[in-house]
Amino acid sequence: MMRVDGWRLGDPVFTADRIATRVGELAAAISADYAGDELTVISILKGSYIFLADLTRALSIPVRVDFLGLSSYVGAESSGEFEWNARMTTSIRDRQVLLIEDIADTGRTLRHVIDHLAADEPLSIRVCAFLDKPMRRVVDIPIDYVGFEIPDHFVVGYGLDYEGWFRQLPHIATLERA
Ligand code: 5GP
Ligand code: MG
Repeated sequence: MMRVDGWRLGDPVFTADRIATRVGELAAAISADYAGDELTVISILKGSYIFLADLTRALSIPVRVDFLGLSSYVGAESSGEFEWNARMTTSIRDRQVLLIEDIADTGRTLRHVIDHLAADEPLSIRVCAFLDKPMRRVVDIPIDYVGFEIPDHFVVGYGLDYEGWFRQLPHIATLERA
């Protein structure tokens, strides 16, 4: 049992097998929607890195990958004030863009990123979130592809962390007090 800083893992919410099946379905849907076209996939660091790796390897269209990173200034919940800690190096002007996020919570992160990228005049911007907590939404955002909807529980694994820990898990689990 993995324990860190007084926390331990709860029961699995999504097993690695279930995740693999769902990621395959998402990749098939995205490949079909962009058939005959090409895609610039932009991963929001750090939580989306495992999802990004699995999803892009299952896509059948030409893809380039870039990264951007931002963190919320205040507190655990995103405040709407962000600091960039990684910038893209590819131009997205006149490109089809797909944003990859680990989880949509209040929606503030995605709103901020979408508004920022729109200034570079891409042809289109769509959003693919591995997890979605719709009842937590504060800011309205379009999410075009969702892996799984979940209730308002803090989860870790498959790239999602608690203070940097637990990203390595191949499944999604809740956190409980040890
Ligand atoms: P939003 O800006 O939508 O409120 O926040 C999205 C970010 O909050 C995610 O990228 C993620 O870093 C963090 N987050 C929200 N819910 C969870 C959760 O259940 N587990 C983890 N590990 N991070 C979460
Ligand atoms: Mg994140």
